[in-house]
Amino acid sequence: MKLKQIIRIIEEWAPPAYQESYDNSRLLTGNADMEITGVLVSLDCVESVVDEAIANNCNLIVAHHPILFSGLKSLTGKNYVERTIIKAIKHDIALYALHTNLDNIHTGVNRKISDLLGLRNPQILSASPHKLMKLEVASPEEAVEPIKQAVFEAGAGDLGNYSDGWFGVQGTAGFKPKAGASPTIGKIEHYMSKPEMKLEFIFPTYLKSGILSALRQVHPYEEFDYKLILLENTNQEVGSGMVGTLAVPEETGQFLERVKKIFGCGVIKHTDITKNTISKVAVCGGAGFFLLPTAMAAGADIFITSDVKYHEFFDADGKIILADIGHYESEQFTKNLIADRLSEKVKIPVSVSDTNTNPVRYL
Ligand SMILES: [Zn+2]
Repeated sequence: MKLKQIIRIIEEWAPPAYQESYDNSRLLTGNADMEITGVLVSLDCVESVVDEAIANNCNLIVAHHPILFSGLKSLTGKNYVERTIIKAIKHDIALYALHTNLDNIHTGVNRKISDLLGLRNPQILSASPHKLMKLEVASPEEAVEPIKQAVFEAGAGDLGNYSDGWFGVQGTAGFKPKAGASPTIGKIEHYMSKPEMKLEFIFPTYLKSGILSALRQVHPYEEFDYKLILLENTNQEVGSGMVGTLAVPEETGQFLERVKKIFGCGVIKHTDITKNTISKVAVCGGAGFFLLPTAMAAGADIFITSDVKYHEFFDADGKIILADIGHYESEQFTKNLIADRLSEKVKIPVSVSDTNTNPVRYL
């Protein structure tokens, strides 16, 4: 199987367009045309993970955290990042990272955490605005169906549990072809007006160019009227963190013990137990402190995340329990999430790395 086929499968699930601006989710080493024999999935890609890939005959490592995060001006092996890259290249191993794009989709990192905790009806905690666009286009009656089919195939009208969504309204269009035009209907220098349909479709912004080119291929007119509108509406399938409810409220101490066990935490750092029972739970794998106000506004009893600093714990202010379960601990099952997804779609072996890449130890 070619690397580019695997990348297509990954990116249809976690579109690179959903990564944060500071991120580097992409193919980091390797050539998209290379033949892949086996995939190793890890949270981090470090030298020991490359060794594991070599031992297991895997020539693709898919990791959540990109080992290359900023530009390299030399590649001499002076630190673990350069040594990892050099080892991967020497052994013809491709490295691919899907990081904040996997954090930001509703079937990503936070969904995995929510499922492990048994949260019901998990929803994105902070859904992103400006990730949806609307296309409005005028069409003669006979082109309505071909246009609908073409833009649906390119990904329009597909939101939540619904597909093939559109809106149409009858109107009147008028135009006068000038010299040099080759109009599908009408004559040069003759004004004409006729009934037309205005069609509307909503789609994720990153699909814009594919949808426009699909439209151009089927629209019968030489020039046609269309409008693209960037929507303020949030996309409920894209954004940070997740919030859900426990099937049965749990006593807080018991709930924290359960979290500690599920995630194998050396320690959980948390604020005062200001609630006796936990019902609504907000989560964000990795560094999620920025979501604390959103978790409070959502009415969560507890916010589970990591990388919380001393002064940030004060901000819980008795209104919510803020719990830091550790960065690795919170995201460790991301490798299972990715491997499960890939195993369903590819025919080559996909294995989950056995290497514990957590750089933090507890006494
Ligand atoms: Zn992380």
